[in-house]
Amino acid sequence: EEVLRLAGVCKVYNPGTPQETEVLHGIDLRLARGELSALIGPSGSGKSTLLNLIGLLDSPSAGELYLQGRATRELDDRARTRLRNEAIGFVFQFHHLIPAFSVLDNVLMPLMIRHGKPSAEDIERARGLLAEVGLEGFAGKKATELSGGQQQRVAIARALVTHPALLLADEPTGNLDTHTAENVFELFRRFNAQFGCAVLVVTHDPRLAAGCPRTIELVDGRIVGAPGAASAPVAP
Ligand code: ADP
Ligand code: ADP
Repeated sequence: EEVLRLAGVCKVYNPGTPQETEVLHGIDLRLARGELSALIGPSGSGKSTLLNLIGLLDSPSAGELYLQGRATRELDDRARTRLRNEAIGFVFQFHHLIPAFSVLDNVLMPLMIRHGKPSAEDIERARGLLAEVGLEGFAGKKATELSGGQQQRVAIARALVTHPALLLADEPTGNLDTHTAENVFELFRRFNAQFGCAVLVVTHDPRLAAGCPRTIELVDGRIVGAPGAASAPVAP
């Protein structure tokens, strides 16, 4: 079952100006349900640009991006936002928790954005995820009262509270020490196995990348060295 497919995706920044640059060149990529992949590559190779496209935060200049079988390039902003909120969870290097909110309210945030006041079921779901990340007793604390690793765990619970088909993480351990990073990364592996969501993690850490069954490497805006189907062009 296919969660994501990119076919001939290009990205041009500043089109039609003297600064015009194409930074992604004809990317073909497929992610299946339950697939756990690391996205690696040198600085400037286009990882963030690609993640922004996959996360529907930006649109390709050419090519098509299918999320759960739906073509996304022609969607208007409203449909794009709705699909993003339905299908994708995000974890960032800097977790972007709301400092004044409790841990529980931070986890509930994506559901509140979706349908306003949280239901009893929402709260149960958020508490369940907090338990899953080992922070059951922290629900009522302010986000700022937690350590960096704990805050990143809250961010992971928040990303999963909508039950996304695709979890995207941009350097989620970049700001953590080695031991804490390994623990946080372990959560991605666990939730990938437990919930069957596809997970794509951008990481600079070769050891964490090695812990993923699949590695996607970007160099100068192209996917390189991916064996087999991973790099094969995909028919639309
Ligand atoms: P990575 O995440 O691998 O470091 P990026 O996707 O951030 O790579 O950047 C890829 C290339 O695109 C770089 O040359 C960068 O300077 C350029 N770039 C990124 N964002 C913009 C932008 N908003 N406008 C113009 N160029 C950009
Ligand atoms: P629900 O009835 O709460 O929607 P589901 O049938 O979707 O539950 O999932 C069964 C169990 O797995 C629940 O405990 C749910 O919290 C969890 N779960 C399923 N998919 C995900 C996901 N992508 N992220 C987080 N939790 C999930």
